[in-house]
Amino acid sequence: MIMNEKLTEHFNKQINREFYSAYMYFAMSTYFMETNYDGFASYMKKQAEEELGHAQKIHDYLLTRNAKITLERIEAPNATWVNPVDIFESALEHEKYVTQHIHNLVKIACDESDYAAKIFLADFVTEQVEEESTFYKILESVRIASDCPCGMRMLDAKFKRTCCG
Ligand code: MG
Repeated sequence: MIMNEKLTEHFNKQINREFYSAYMYFAMSTYFMETNYDGFASYMKKQAEEELGHAQKIHDYLLTRNAKITLERIEAPNATWVNPVDIFESALEHEKYVTQHIHNLVKIACDESDYAAKIFLADFVTEQVEEESTFYKILESVRIASDCPCGMRMLDAKFKRTCCG
């Protein structure tokens, strides 16, 4: 079943967005490594690896559908974060932005009567619900921890145990 041009174009843009997400999470991981938050750094590296997995999954799906893959330039992340709260706010905002695009893809798949693509996208819709929920919870914890000097270090240590333990 050949995928139409419009949907193919939007899927290709999503591959780029997933690579960008990975790039952004690697940059966040770098920030945390440089500021000695090893736990947060590991967590962000894991996120980056997950995003690479998403890009790969869409890439492979397009191949299965005989759709043309177009790999565009990946933007550099704007790594101007000033503290952990800032980073987790950016991460949550970014996931909300990705959710909008995934929903838009579903809409196009429906408009173009590509029900196979719509079903393929279901996992991505579910994933975004989880991503937003997780980042929202982390952001709340990070905000609370940022009120006391050693709170953030303790939270980082907890992440280190969870991610690397
Ligand atoms: Mg993703």
